[in-house]
Amino acid sequence: MHPVSKHQLFGKAKHHYQDVKDLIRYCSLDQPYDRSEVIWLYGQKRKLVDLFRAYNIPEIYHAEIAASMVCKSCGNHDFDLNSYVGTEEEKYNQIHVKLVEADRKFKKKIIDLQEYIKVYPSLVLDNPLARKIQKEIESGTLPKCDLKDFDCFRSRIVGDAKVFKSVDLGAPDIGIARIGRYNHPGQSVFYVSESRDCSVAEILDDYHQPALIWIQKYHIDGLSNILDLKIDWGGYLDFDSILFTALLNNNVLERRMSKDNSTWKPGYLLTNFIADCAKKANYNGIRYNSSKFKDSNIVLFDPKHKAIQAIDKPDVFIHDPIPPL
Ligand SMILES: [Zn+2]
Repeated sequence: MHPVSKHQLFGKAKHHYQDVKDLIRYCSLDQPYDRSEVIWLYGQKRKLVDLFRAYNIPEIYHAEIAASMVCKSCGNHDFDLNSYVGTEEEKYNQIHVKLVEADRKFKKKIIDLQEYIKVYPSLVLDNPLARKIQKEIESGTLPKCDLKDFDCFRSRIVGDAKVFKSVDLGAPDIGIARIGRYNHPGQSVFYVSESRDCSVAEILDDYHQPALIWIQKYHIDGLSNILDLKIDWGGYLDFDSILFTALLNNNVLERRMSKDNSTWKPGYLLTNFIADCAKKANYNGIRYNSSKFKDSNIVLFDPKHKAIQAIDKPDVFIHDPIPPL
C-alpha cells in the first residue's frame, strides 16, 4: 500500500516531494531500543534535512515536504527537518541503474523479437535474441526452485448444478486444452496457483465481485527443478541475468490476455517458446508472477506427474472479497 500524503502539495513542492517520497523506508520508531537508547538497525540513518539537501530541494519547501513524509515501514507521519529516517537509496539506485541498463541493451531487440515471432513462430530460432534466450535457459544459470511439501490450488466458476469431482478440476487432456501462457494449443500441462485467492483471481474477470467457485487443493511432496521466473522489484538486485531482467521488467512474460474466443494470441508466442526451451533443458515447470494477483502461479509440464496429489474432493465456496476502497 502506498502511503498517502496528509498535506496537499502543489507545483514545485509536489515535484520535489515525488523525488524523495519513496526514500523513507524506516524511521526511529522501527528501530529497537536498548534501555531508551535507539540502536539504529534498519535503513541508512540520515537527518531528513540532509536528505532534502542531497536531493537539491530548495529550502523554502523543506518544512512543507517534511510534514508530508510518511514512513513506508510503520506509517508514521510525524516528521520535522531534524527527524532521523532510515533510507535505502543505495539499493533503490542500484536497481534503477540495472533496469535502465537492461532496457538499453535489450528493449529494442525484445520488441523486434515480438514482431518476428508473430510472423514466423516456428522459425523463431533464426532470431539472435531467441537463440540467446534458449542459451540462457539451457545454461542452468537462471534461478530455480524446488517444490517441497507444497500446497497449491485450481479453481473453476460454478456454472450449473453438476457436482464436480477431482478429475473435473484437473488439467484438460491432450487435444482439449486451449493455448495458454506456457502451452501450445492442445498440449496438456498443469497450471496451479500458490494460493487459493490467486487461483480464483485467475479465472474471474472481476476479482472484486462475489462469485461461486469450485476449488481443488493439491499437495506436492517433492518436485525439483522448476525454472523460477517469479520476481518482485527488490529481487532485481540479485537477479543475474540482464536479458531476463529486461524481459520481466517489461512485462513481456506476464501480459494479461483477453479471454475472447480468438485462436490468435500472439502475446503467448514468446512464453510458449520459453516453455519449449525450459522443457528441453529438463525443467519440470516454470514459476511465474500472476498477472492478476500478488502471488505466483506454476506450470508443470507433466500433468500426470506422480508427485501431484489431489487433496479430498473439490469444494464449493462463496468468493466474497472486501470491495476496494
Ligand atoms: Zn517507521
